Amino acid sequence: MKKILENIYLLEEVRGCNVYLLDSGKELTLIDTGLKGQGEKIEAQLQEAGFSLSQLRYIILTHAHRDHMGSANEVATRAVARVLAHEGEIPYLEQTETLPVSSVMGMLFTWLEKKFLPKVPPCLVDKGLKDKESLDILEGLQVIYTPGHTPGTISLYQPERKILFCGDALFNQNPATGKKGLRLPISLFTADKKDALESVKKLSTFPIQSIFFGHGVPILENGRERIQSLLEKKSG
Ligand SMILES: [Zn+2]
Ligand SMILES: [Zn+2]
Repeated sequence: MKKILENIYLLEEVRGCNVYLLDSGKELTLIDTGLKGQGEKIEAQLQEAGFSLSQLRYIILTHAHRDHMGSANEVATRAVARVLAHEGEIPYLEQTETLPVSSVMGMLFTWLEKKFLPKVPPCLVDKGLKDKESLDILEGLQVIYTPGHTPGTISLYQPERKILFCGDALFNQNPATGKKGLRLPISLFTADKKDALESVKKLSTFPIQSIFFGHGVPILENGRERIQSLLEKKSG
């Protein structure tokens, strides 16, 4: 696991998405968990870095896509950690409802996924989060509701340090093609493109220095300016 900034680590070789570990002193928090079957890898990396799974208090899920929540149930059970996610995302995480998609291609992909990919276990959410809620993590981690990619996608923001964890509200790499660069959420997997764009506009109003993505390497400086220039390109 790689330390990126003080108390912020990126786990390595977790399949699916970037998984971050936040160290708030005695308690640890994971942001997202990768695909199904990553639990052992996550536990081993915590131990190698001198942490233990029993210190893990929270797992925050940015949204209900399988590449982010696949191992949530497994890790939460092993660690006895509480799972937090936006209240609007709970039916999809608990799999009482199917995530909406915006295109015919998206529908086709969802169908293929259901038919051919291994089933991901549902993840029960211990606490539903709301926009602007402040969590007792990293001395105050604020929930920013950024719907569009999915109905209950959230970002997390630390105002003093101007750090943003954006999940898939923004991408810094296309996970399908590997192409690097800041971009809006990939249409194929996005429920509502208009809302997703509005959410990026919302993010651009926050003073942001560093951005940690679900896909792609972090941007450590001038985060807000980078988002603003992406929006200018889109509207120009
Ligand atoms: Zn996603
Ligand atoms: Zn993703």
